Amino acid sequence: MKCMVLTKISDLRVNKNPLSYKETDVPKIDKNEVLIKVNTCAVCHTELDEIEGRIKPIKLPVIPGHQIVGRVIEIGSKVKKLKNGDRVGIGWINSACGKCVYCKSGFENLCPNFVATGKDTDGGYAEYTKISEDYAVPIPEKFTDEEASPLLCAGAVGYRALKLTNVKNEMNLGFLGFGASNHLVLKIAKAVYPKLKSFVFARSEKERALAKDLGAYWCGNIEETPEEKLNAIIDTTPVWMPIVKAMRNLKPNGRLVINNIRKEDFDKDKLVSIDYSRDLWMEKEIKSVANVTFNDIKEVLNIADIYDIKPAYQLYDLADADKAITDIKEKRIEGAKVLKI
Ligand SMILES: [Zn+2]
Ligand SMILES: [Zn+2]
Repeated sequence: MKCMVLTKISDLRVNKNPLSYKETDVPKIDKNEVLIKVNTCAVCHTELDEIEGRIKPIKLPVIPGHQIVGRVIEIGSKVKKLKNGDRVGIGWINSACGKCVYCKSGFENLCPNFVATGKDTDGGYAEYTKISEDYAVPIPEKFTDEEASPLLCAGAVGYRALKLTNVKNEMNLGFLGFGASNHLVLKIAKAVYPKLKSFVFARSEKERALAKDLGAYWCGNIEETPEEKLNAIIDTTPVWMPIVKAMRNLKPNGRLVINNIRKEDFDKDKLVSIDYSRDLWMEKEIKSVANVTFNDIKEVLNIADIYDIKPAYQLYDLADADKAITDIKEKRIEGAKVLKI
């Protein structure tokens, strides 16, 4: 089969073609697994982090890609839930142990044996991939393959962040950064909580205009202070300073949720101090989001189906995966990037 493979870590500023186009064997399935003919795979910012060595450990060589939509073409002898021809998706969660205290309490995303698709095992930048039947999610009829792919990570992790904010209708929710994930989360939040007021902090004029178009109640940059305080904020920026500033806009008991797999490296010249009474007092919290559970993926697809939420996307050929990654790095963001396989 044809695939794009990451064989070594490289800096995209120096090497614009970090992935190699290769022919390799179609994966062999185990008794509880299904073989999938991949139709689309969306490209995630996490893949840029994998390529540039910021996400460790990583299996090398690896076929990246964790927003996969395709059809089942072969099933293992013990498979019960799926049959040939079923359309399924695969997200970041490839498997978890199912036995530990986290798995048993609905936090399989925190399992010490969490296996991530396209990082610990081969993913979807390929014509075929495989997965245990327990982690293949059915795709609602309504979506094309291209529309469903970005929901599997940008949508699912963003949705997990939204759940962790604990916001309800008639509350105020802030968005710090307004890229692929937060723009989907705003759509989801507005659909599920029609009386929620959304406040978007974004650096670029273009992002603020998009936020306004999507119905944001208030838009500004991080230096600006909205007149109302916020119940929660979802942060997707790679830096620290905006978080500290954003904490000042929280109400008592407010929570800031960081939806980012990594932040800028520690730099003593850029130390930011938290003022306890101004920034954290009154039971304010900072919380991170790690990975996703299988249920997060199922629930976000269900919500997107009910409320007709579809991501904007741009298509690329499999062989142009490097270009899609470079476009993410250079912030040529016009919706999600989707590989058509
Ligand atoms: Zn992702
Ligand atoms: Zn576990």
